Amino acid sequence: MSDFVYHDDSEVWLTEITSNHYEEALSRVDLLLGRTEEDANGCWVRGTVKRPKTRFRGRQVAAARFVYCVVNREVLSERVVIRHRCHNELCCRPEHLQTGSAADNKRDDWEYYGLL
Ligand SMILES: [Zn+2]
Repeated sequence: MSDFVYHDDSEVWLTEITSNHYEEALSRVDLLLGRTEEDANGCWVRGTVKRPKTRFRGRQVAAARFVYCVVNREVLSERVVIRHRCHNELCCRPEHLQTGSAADNKRDDWEYYGLL
């Protein structure tokens, strides 16, 4: 048991789709991004007030997270959050997304509101 490595649900699911369902996942990303429009800040958004989500292979996930993981073919733990460089939570443009910790995410907000 010494070489047992724990993978959380998010890692198990992402490993499965990036290994065995990657083409299908890429098509879903195309579909999601195809429904967005570019705003004045270069963000790719849909006309929604809530953060867009998508359901794929039995799991509901934030669209931005799904786009990031599939485009970068990256398996993320549940502890890793997706940050928006553009500070627009509705944005799904891959270039505007980056990973970080929950603390990083908080700091982004503080910076944005001029608190740091
Ligand atoms: Zn953006």
